[in-house]
Amino acid sequence: MSADYNIFVTEETIEGESDGPLADRTVAVKDNISTEGVRTTCGSEMLDDYVPPYDATVVEELKQAGATIVGKANMDEFGMGSTTETSAFGPTENPAAPGRVPGGSSGGSAAAVAAGEADLALGSDTGGSVRNPAAFCGVVGIKPTYGLVSRYGLVAYANSLEQIGPLAPTVAEAAELLDVISGPDENDATTRQEGAESDYASAATGDLDGTTIGVPTELVEGADEGVRERFEDALDDLRAQGATVEDVSLPSIEHAVEAYYVIAMSEASSNLARFDGVRFGTSGGFEGNWNEAFSRSREAFGEEVKRRILLGTYALSAGYHDKYYKQAQDARAWVKQDFDEAFESVDVLASPTMPVPPFEQGESLDDPLQMYLADANTVPVNLADLPAISVPAGEVDGGPVGIQFVGPAFGEDEIIRVGSAVEN
Ligand code: GLN
Repeated sequence: MSADYNIFVTEETIEGESDGPLADRTVAVKDNISTEGVRTTCGSEMLDDYVPPYDATVVEELKQAGATIVGKANMDEFGMGSTTETSAFGPTENPAAPGRVPGGSSGGSAAAVAAGEADLALGSDTGGSVRNPAAFCGVVGIKPTYGLVSRYGLVAYANSLEQIGPLAPTVAEAAELLDVISGPDENDATTRQEGAESDYASAATGDLDGTTIGVPTELVEGADEGVRERFEDALDDLRAQGATVEDVSLPSIEHAVEAYYVIAMSEASSNLARFDGVRFGTSGGFEGNWNEAFSRSREAFGEEVKRRILLGTYALSAGYHDKYYKQAQDARAWVKQDFDEAFESVDVLASPTMPVPPFEQGESLDDPLQMYLADANTVPVNLADLPAISVPAGEVDGGPVGIQFVGPAFGEDEIIRVGSAVEN
């Protein structure tokens, strides 16, 4: 069945403990999350035969919770993309919208849930890679606050931005999976005490009494008409359930996409330096000198990954560092400040998750810039280290539409509560 959509890179069962909160649940795990003894490719030819010697912390937690892992899910190469079309193992198709992409980069994870190939899934979200495919496949996805979930064993793309996050058919089930993976980890110094004793699942009450939802106008204006209509319908429904909705402004947001791509590519250029055929990755052979062998090894990267390593290296190089990287960090601080100010007057912020319906397969491949711009509503959240959820909000001609709620840092309970009201 899964062969129809090309959901898994590796279909292999990893059994967990016999009981626990996720006993009898199946989980698809994105192929950039390390599984001991089971191939982990990051969607790249570079890691075609890489078998990790240890489990990521989240994988250990899944096993302890009694879950059964059913396979390693397809993804854009090293998480770089929004369509799961940059995978070296071929594109995944959207089970909820035939002929369309499932979104990305965690497209295989979202498709697994949408197609019923797994009850739950784990993805990773550097700039939207959990929320984007959740929206495109009509499922729920959560990007946790930075530091809530351990990144130990997650192959790094842009480590200051990314978190592992759950995907599920409903808000309550996504919250249940978040309960299992959240909390401090001695192997990841960026994790925090928050989440240690969490009970996010019971926050999915759908209760909106006294809730104020802010709508950043900048994140709605540019969206497709059909997407905007579904978004407005969802807001009307939340108002009818007792929420107050008001407009807010995040003036810094127009710089978020540029800042995100400078920071993400800069970190990627450094993180991906370990794939040299000696430490990790396809060997460049023994012919010629070290530089030649190194270059041959790196031919195993796909076009998008090469583009980003080149641009990131350029942005960090002497003479350009202040012009690009430092400016991007300033913009990041400004985005954070705008969000902080907004949360002084509202409980959560709402926007369409993606400004467009799912792309047709092949549509966005020749125009990387167009693809980067589609991340306008998701990347600000990563720049500000905040939590966000995407919940299905109906369909337009092209496929499913998602509504995104953003909360203050460690405000997972809030976004889960408001998100679950959309399902009422
Ligand atoms: N589309 C974004 C990018 O290509 C987000 C990717 C992600 O979150 N891993 O960087």
